[in-house]
Parts: sequence; structure tokens; C-alpha cells
Amino acid sequence: MTDTPTQLFIGGAWLDAADGATMPVDDPATGEILCHVADAGPRDARLAEAAAVQMQEEWALTAPRARSEILRRAYEIILERADELAHLMTAEMGKPLAEARGEVAYAAEFFRWFSEEAVRIDGGAGILPDGRNRMLLSRRPVGPCLLITPWNFPLAMGTRKIGPAIAAGCTMVLKPAPQTPLSSLALAAILQEAGLPDGVLNVVTTSRAGQVCEPLLRGGGIRKLSFTGSTAVGRLLLAQSAEAVVRTSMELGGNAPFIVFEDADLDKAVDGAMLAKMRNMGEACTAANRFFVHHSVAEEFGRRLAERMGALVVGPGTRDGVDVGPLIDRTGRGKVEALVTDAVERGARVLVGGRTPEGPGCFYPPTVLTDVSPESRLMDTEIFGPVAAILTFDDEDEVIRRANDTPWGLVGYVFTEGLDRALRVSERIEVGMVGLNTGLVSNPAAPFGGVKQSGLGREGGRVGIDEFLEYQYLAIPMR
Ligand code: NAP
Repeated sequence: MTDTPTQLFIGGAWLDAADGATMPVDDPATGEILCHVADAGPRDARLAEAAAVQMQEEWALTAPRARSEILRRAYEIILERADELAHLMTAEMGKPLAEARGEVAYAAEFFRWFSEEAVRIDGGAGILPDGRNRMLLSRRPVGPCLLITPWNFPLAMGTRKIGPAIAAGCTMVLKPAPQTPLSSLALAAILQEAGLPDGVLNVVTTSRAGQVCEPLLRGGGIRKLSFTGSTAVGRLLLAQSAEAVVRTSMELGGNAPFIVFEDADLDKAVDGAMLAKMRNMGEACTAANRFFVHHSVAEEFGRRLAERMGALVVGPGTRDGVDVGPLIDRTGRGKVEALVTDAVERGARVLVGGRTPEGPGCFYPPTVLTDVSPESRLMDTEIFGPVAAILTFDDEDEVIRRANDTPWGLVGYVFTEGLDRALRVSERIEVGMVGLNTGLVSNPAAPFGGVKQSGLGREGGRVGIDEFLEYQYLAIPMR
């Protein structure tokens, strides 16, 4: 903690906010203040934007191999400091250390992946249909980017954007979530150490997101917005981006169905449910939100899931043996409590959990609800907590219709041993990603993203860099 930067990172310099403002960073396990960081205002944002704009041309001309090697060095430094970064993440976000270590490795992997992609940016050449004239296609960085990240994966949501932006030759302003600024500042220091030129990455930590970001989106200097967060905020930012016709990538909320058919292997289904529900204490866009279980196996599935959930140890993420850390803050926990109360009032039975513990910290116990009414609010709200809500179904058409009956479409989980059914259902559910007999889909080598109101564009995979590139077509007339 002592060496972690707490100032803004602009043009390669560590700066206080122009008006001297700071904001506290809390430990969600105790409610105590860990430290204060600079709280940027509009003037700081303009300075960061100017640094990014000024550096764009030079950075775009930097050899892809040089960009690649910076990312590769940063990947190695992250791995060398994995333990330190994991402790920092647990301190500001709450997830257990084992999960924080997993996220550090996942986050680093985006830098390795995009270091490999930086040198594979292709173009094209062709003869036009008239048989005479030629075309040459080259791919150019889209320009200075605004990257906005949430608190739930403080490091990985940053590297998933910064990695392809650096690889593509874009400069950027990163605005992390105010609950978890330290991981992003630590990442900026690592990139600086890895040789990233001043001004390529600028980080503004702020409690005044709207005041800081809106002028950047409307101003004309920023050419690209890459946002990860809620659908409500994404919608607002899309509207703000329209004025200067800023290109956008949106990784938004989810409402994942988790479907267990009567022919599923229940061991796999319960293991998958534990992963899909409990990764990150349920504070994940990919978290299973609605468990649809065939009525013939629902009781057995519920009993086994409740047994596993009830055996999890809840406590501060730094303590040995803890499986479930605190939720991010009191507001987040209050939302989970209200959703459970609503479901119970509408007839749900609590198989395990469901009671907020006394004492400091934002803890909430792993909870399994069964007989959940389709009218419950948690059916169309991201729970963002360790609560599994089970409903039953009778046939395939019905469950597909119910799974698709939501404005979101990020991910779905399907458990069946039948190949035909697996393919049929995967093709019919309206989501960007499907976990087939698995509760985990995230992988830097795969395109991550959603359909419907879960987002626009993809992050990671071969296509992740495309979000930061534009085609330029050169017409060559031939005599
Ligand atoms: P959020 O409230 O939408 O905030 C996300 C980020 O946007 C934060 O940095 C936030 O800063 C900022 N923000 C809010 N209002 C803004 C504005 N007017 N202008 C500019 N920035 C603004 O979401 P969250 O609660 O932090 O994160 C949880 C959400 O993220 C969930 O819906 C989850 O599903 C989604 N998520 C999606 C993915 C994905 O890949 N699809 C991954 C992770 C999370 P402030 O907090 O200061 O407002």
C-alpha cells in the first residue's frame, strides 16, 4: 500500500487534482478508509485529454513491435508483482485473495495476448471488379480513447481495454471506478516502468464521473469510447457520444439464464452453478441470475447447491480459508437484501442464507432461493450478489422462451448431456456467449460481449483489437 500511487497520471507525471480535491478509498471488509486518492475535476480531464491527443500521432507511428514489447514487459512485471497486486485488489474491492490472484493472472493475460496481436494487424490489397483499378487497405488506430471501467474486476477490465488500445496504436484516458482506483494507478505505474511513452495512457480517478467524462465525449478530441458498466449508464454515454459521433464499444449488464435439463450431469451442473454464481461473490456481469431447472431434477439440484453454498466461509478476503468476501459497499448489499425480501414476499423458500449478518463490513451470506415467482424483481434485475434463484420448467421451448424474455443477452449456461439439444438450445438463446456444461466462459483468447442491451462490440480474442482500428481504403487508378 505504501508505494501505491494515489495521484492522477497525466502526460507521464503524477499530479494532484487541480483544485486539490481528494476522495477516500474504503475497505469493504471493515468500512475503514484505506487511503485518499486525487479526485479529478473537469480541468484535470481536459489536461489528460490534451496529453492523449498530443501524443496520438507519434504513438500511431511507433513500430508495432515496439508496442508489442511494452505490453509483453508489462505482462511480465504484473506476474512478478502478482501477490502485491492481489493484496491491493482485495483491500479496495473485497474479493478473497485466491480470487484476486486469479484476476491478476487473467488481467496479465490480456497484455500477453495483445502483445501478440500488435504485430498481426493486417490490411489488404485487391483488384477492383473492373479488372484494372486497384485498392490498398490499411488499418489505422481509431485515435484517442476514453476508457471507463467498473469496480468488480478492477485490473482485468482495465487491461482488456488498455491492451488492445496500446496494440492498435491508440492513446487513452482511463477513468476507473471510484471504489477501486488503486489497481488502475498501480497498473499505470507498471506500464510506465515497462517503457510506455508519456501521454499514451492517462488515468483520472474521480468521484465526479459525469463532469469529467461528458465534456470529453462531446469535445471532439476523443474518438472512441470503450465502456464497461451498467446498461443504464451505457445508454447515457451512447447518447453523449452521438454529438461528436464518437465510436463506441459497450460491455454492459447481464441477466444470465442457467438452464439445467433433465438429462444433465448434476455433478457438473452444481459445480458449474458454484462458478457461475459465486465467482466474485456474484458481482459479475456473467453471474448466473436466473436458474431454470427441469422440474424432475429441481429438488435434488436445489438441495445439492444449498449444501455447497452453505459450506462456504464468509469473511474478510485477506483471511486464510475465506471463500466469500464482502460486497462492494452498503448500497450494493442493500440492493441484494431488498431483492431477496421481495422474492420471499412473493413466495420463495430460503434453502440457505438470506440473513444479513451483524457487524462491520458489507457481508452477505451465500443464499439459495427456490420456488421463486417469475414476478420477483430479481428476475429482471442483476442481483450482483451471492444469491441463486431457482425456478422450474417443463419443456425445451418453454425454457428458451423464458430465458430470452429479457432485454439483456450477455451469457447463458446450458447443462445437458445431449449433443443435439446442446447445439439446438445454444443456437436459440439470445446471448453473446454460451457456457456448455461449464460455469465459466471468460478467456482472453475468446471474444467477450453481449447482444441486445448487454452491449456493442467484443473484447478479447482476435476481434478485440478491431474495436480500436479503422480501415483506410486507398483507391489506385491504373492506366
Ligand atoms: P456503473 O454504475 O455503470 O459504473 C461503471 C463505470 O461508469 C464507473 O466507473 C462509473 O463511475 C462510471 N460512470 C457512471 N456514471 C457515469 C457518467 N455519467 N459518465 C461517465 N462515467 C460514468 O456500473 P458498476 O455498478 O460500477 O458496475 C457494475 C455493472 O457493470 C453491472 O451492470 C455489470 O453487469 C457491468 N459489467 C459488465 C461487464 C461486461 O463485460 N459486460 C463486465 C463487468 C461489469 P461512478 O461510479 O463514479 O459513477
